[in-house]
Amino acid sequence: MDKYKYYVFIFLGVILCLINGVFAKDNSNILLSKVIYIDPGHGGTDCGAYYKSIKESDINLEISLKLMDVLKKEGATVYLTRYGDYDLSTPDAWNRKRSDLSRRANIINKSNCDLYLSIHLNADDSGTFHGAEVYYDTINPENEKIASIFQEEFNKNLSSNRDFKENSTKYLQRRINRPGVLLEVGFLSNSSERALLTNDVYQNKLVDVIKRGIYKYFET
Ligand SMILES: [Zn+2]
Repeated sequence: MDKYKYYVFIFLGVILCLINGVFAKDNSNILLSKVIYIDPGHGGTDCGAYYKSIKESDINLEISLKLMDVLKKEGATVYLTRYGDYDLSTPDAWNRKRSDLSRRANIINKSNCDLYLSIHLNADDSGTFHGAEVYYDTINPENEKIASIFQEEFNKNLSSNRDFKENSTKYLQRRINRPGVLLEVGFLSNSSERALLTNDVYQNKLVDVIKRGIYKYFET
C-alpha cells in the first residue's frame, strides 16, 4: 500500500471512531452508573399476605427478579436483598422479623446505592381495594419526590387511582438512609387484581412501569 492510501485508511479510521463516539454518547444510558437495590418483601417463614396457596413473598420475588433482569440489561448494577425463599435473620435472633429487617436495612445502607425499592403486595379484609400505591419515609429528603413519580406512573399506566402516602412508622423504611420507597404493587386480597399479579404478562407490564419510574427519577 502506498503512503497516500495508508493515510486515507488512518483518516477514515479516526472518522469512524469519532462517529462511534458520538453515537455511543447519544445511546448512553443513564442507568449505566447507577446502583439499584431491590428488596423483595418477606420470605422464608414470613410469607406476608396470602390467599390459599398464593404467597405475597413469592410474587414479590418473581417481580423483583424480573425487574433485576430488565435493569441489568439497561446497564444498571442491581442487587436483591434476597434471591430465594428465605429471610435474612441471624440464627440466634430473639426477634426473627426485626433481625431480618435490620439486616436488609444494613446491607442497603452499606451499598451506598442510588435508589432502593421494596416490593410488596397489599391486602385488606374487604377485598374491595385495588391498585398500586407508594409509601415513603421522610428519613431521606428525596423520598417524597420518588414516591410521587412512581405513583404517577402507576396511575398513568395501570388501572390505579391511589395516592402516595407518607408513612414514617415502617421498621425497615425508617432505617434506610438511601433514597427509595416501598412499592405496594397491588392488592392480593382483590380477586381481579390477584389474577393479574399472578400473571406473567401483567408482572412484565408492572416491571416496565417501575422501570419508567426509575428513569424518570434519575432524569429529574
Ligand atoms: Zn408485604
